[in-house]
Amino acid sequence: MNFYKNAIVAVLLAVASWSVSAQDHQPKLIDTMVHYNGEPGVLQTMLEKMDKVDGLAILCVTKKGLPEARQFIQQHPNRFIGFGDVNLDDRDILQQVDRLHRDGFLGLGEISSTKRNYDDRAYWPIYERAQEYHMILHFHTGVVLREDPEQAQDVSFDRMRASRLDLIARRFPRLIIIGAHLGNPDYSEAAEIARWDPNLYFDISGSTLIKMKDNYAYFKSVFWWTGVKSLHTPASDASAFEKLVFASDVFNGDVAEFDNELARYHQLLDACAVPQHAQEMIFSGTMWKILQDQKAALAHSEKDHTTLKR
Ligand SMILES: [Zn+2]
Repeated sequence: MNFYKNAIVAVLLAVASWSVSAQDHQPKLIDTMVHYNGEPGVLQTMLEKMDKVDGLAILCVTKKGLPEARQFIQQHPNRFIGFGDVNLDDRDILQQVDRLHRDGFLGLGEISSTKRNYDDRAYWPIYERAQEYHMILHFHTGVVLREDPEQAQDVSFDRMRASRLDLIARRFPRLIIIGAHLGNPDYSEAAEIARWDPNLYFDISGSTLIKMKDNYAYFKSVFWWTGVKSLHTPASDASAFEKLVFASDVFNGDVAEFDNELARYHQLLDACAVPQHAQEMIFSGTMWKILQDQKAALAHSEKDHTTLKR
């Protein structure tokens, strides 16, 4: 009886967190990756920024930031969505994912610096669980910073290659996956797998936008298939660049870097003559549709759940 009661309470709590997390309009900008580690003042700073640009930010929240972020996200559902910044190698990772889902967190990320390759079968139960919960996964891809060179690390770029996402996207076809940084520097591999995986997107945040600033037009050769009608590429009327979504990748509420990142994104897309409509999709439309689909899927599975419990 107690178990039954607890289960009902858990379901009601979950419904409550989803319903308060609803957005009432499509924002102009959706930032798919803002980091939050519990630093004081950061949430308020980001709220002011999001109000100014009519933005919705996905907060990638570490364990330390969870208590404050959970409440703040519920208070500002038009401005924030929460992802759990989890470590895939934690022993209790599945319980963490359950808890995050129960608390209304809609995804996991930024997943990074794993002990195994991203597509290792040891992680499949986590992806399976995330898929069951309709969560979105945001993976770091490509080269990664080395914070303290004095300290021994069990970290390797090779485990986090963009190409490691291909198997995950195919094996878990209902998962929506975002790869951060377009696999820096393996841009072509990243774009090629995104071309064939409809559930895979990339952001191009990070050092790429600085490194390539005099050569942004290069990305026309990476996203080459716009308008191509051929058996060799999936049929689509969308610009190939629509495999990109926006991410500022800012830490510590660094709004100056947020502005820089946004400006660089615009410069790159303009240099590649990406049409206005496609740019609107990259800055908001694509993620908005993903979030609406996710909302519908969550409402649907919740209905099944409640019916089962009766
Ligand atoms: Zn990253």
